Amino acid sequence: MTVTRFAPSPTGHLHLGSVYSALFAKRAARADGGRYLVRIEDIDQTRCKPEFTAQMLADLEWLGLTSDEKPERRQSEHLDEYRAALERLDGMGLVYPCFCTRADIQREIQAAGGAPHGPDGPVYPGICRGLDRSETQARIAAGETPAWRLDIAAALAVTGRLSFHDRALGEVHCRPEAFGDVVLARKDTPTSYHLSVTLDDALQGITLVTRGEDLLPSTDVHRVLQSLLGLPEPTYWHHGLLFGPDGKRFAKRDRSVSVPDLRADGRSAVEIIAMAEGLAALE
Ligand code: GLU
Repeated sequence: MTVTRFAPSPTGHLHLGSVYSALFAKRAARADGGRYLVRIEDIDQTRCKPEFTAQMLADLEWLGLTSDEKPERRQSEHLDEYRAALERLDGMGLVYPCFCTRADIQREIQAAGGAPHGPDGPVYPGICRGLDRSETQARIAAGETPAWRLDIAAALAVTGRLSFHDRALGEVHCRPEAFGDVVLARKDTPTSYHLSVTLDDALQGITLVTRGEDLLPSTDVHRVLQSLLGLPEPTYWHHGLLFGPDGKRFAKRDRSVSVPDLRADGRSAVEIIAMAEGLAALE
């Protein structure tokens, strides 16, 4: 059975772009007689707010885009599961603690005369990759909290070349090395977008991952994690992003496209869905 999901981060309100993404996920499920789930991606404790989560769920309900399964999974309630996965990768020798600050990284890149540019910015120059385990343990024992990075070269040596199937794009060949050693657990939270999204899609039995094409490069990292952790490989369907009349992507703070603001202005749910669809048709 096809199972899709809409996985918003509650760092602001729903806007027409996210409404379109939810609609896309729900329709893809319904077209196959399948299920559509909503998942709250709230691992970032500083940017995600419970008020935004509550408002998002209420707005989704009002729009008729509520989850087929309740309660919705909230990532902040599953940090131990992400931690356990990270420990497995550590046991495989594929992750390492990184104590660098942004300034350390910038300094190193400048000294090296630059760094390749990956999908998330300059590639990490590997400063902590070779640190001795006894030294890192001593630093952790002394109270330093590291981030944890995937040693992408070591990981690829295990997985070999990977690809995935996208309903719009066909067979896509992965190039996760473009990210360099991605962070799998941040200093402020024991996970990252890549780790938690990959695990949750597997744990929730998601068979068709639908999301905006801005996340297309991330799928390459997710395939590596699936392969390393023995998780099933879903099919993907990356959809185009909606742009406003000014040609810019919607931002959560943009009042003209925010669902609570449109609701307050007296727009009906049907009108809001039609607005999102109208913009999608322009793509
Ligand atoms: N939580 C992510 C976001 O709001 C989307 C994750 C995904 O669909 O994979 O951008």
